[in-house]
Amino acid sequence: MSGTLYIVATPIGNLDDITFRAIDTLKSVDFILAEDTRHSKTLINHHEISTPMRAFHEHNEQHKSAEVIEALLSGQNMALISDAGTPLISDPGYVLVREAKKSGVLVSPIPGPSAMISAMSAAGIATDRFGFYGFLPNKHTARVKAIQTIAHVNQTVIFYESPKRILECAKDMLSVLGDRRIVCLAKELTKSFETIKTDTVPNLLAYLQEDITHQKGEFVILISAIDKDNKVEGEERLDKILPILLAEMGASKAAKLAAKITGIDKKYCYQRAIDL
Ligand code: SAM
Repeated sequence: MSGTLYIVATPIGNLDDITFRAIDTLKSVDFILAEDTRHSKTLINHHEISTPMRAFHEHNEQHKSAEVIEALLSGQNMALISDAGTPLISDPGYVLVREAKKSGVLVSPIPGPSAMISAMSAAGIATDRFGFYGFLPNKHTARVKAIQTIAHVNQTVIFYESPKRILECAKDMLSVLGDRRIVCLAKELTKSFETIKTDTVPNLLAYLQEDITHQKGEFVILISAIDKDNKVEGEERLDKILPILLAEMGASKAAKLAAKITGIDKKYCYQRAIDL
């Protein structure tokens, strides 16, 4: 009989945000696979868990997975944890889970906190449809392109951002989303300086700039879905120029030209052109 690989969610700040079942599981398995054993020591000590830990992170996931699966197949039970929240959500574990399942090992989730779900629950932005984008690219041009793409998505968009780039990211959002779109900055969730601000981008930018401490900490960003009252910068222009271009050329060429003129994503322009 092979053992079970438990995927255990741990707190995103407040050490008491962990389920009874998570603690029982962490106490009963043979090993805990931790992204950073030193970081997880605080949690383990806080809950008086004495199970040995092994390092399992993005740099050793590929080669460690085979070894871990062998141990699971020999009957050992393991728990995978990350530094915060739910493993595999912008955290290591995908390769291990994929390979464990291929090998016939039972993989069982022990649910609990995740920053994206916590942010969504308190943002006051529609949650009926959403897309999670992990971390956006670090570089300005690539990030602007990513925001241009998600700006037109007809669902709430969620992503993570580091304090190092939060200000630049807010400026990029302003340039693409304009000054009416509603966005939420959820910062330091479950910690002493938890702040959840849902407002227009100019107001959020002003908040970030008014005090350097407002840029510190961990952030989740939610962008409300596009709707007809919520047009992206340039979109009104797109609606004006597309019919003119379409009178002269096919949808594909018109979309390409419209994308160049407005800076709006080409695929979106094409969709708009064929919907007209
Ligand atoms: N696995 C985690 C989860 O389930 O949310 C996410 C891990 S990802 C490497 C870390 C990012 O999650 C941070 O950079 C930040 O964007 C977000 N995050 C984690 N904890 C947070 C918190 N307490 N408040 C706001 N954002 C948080």
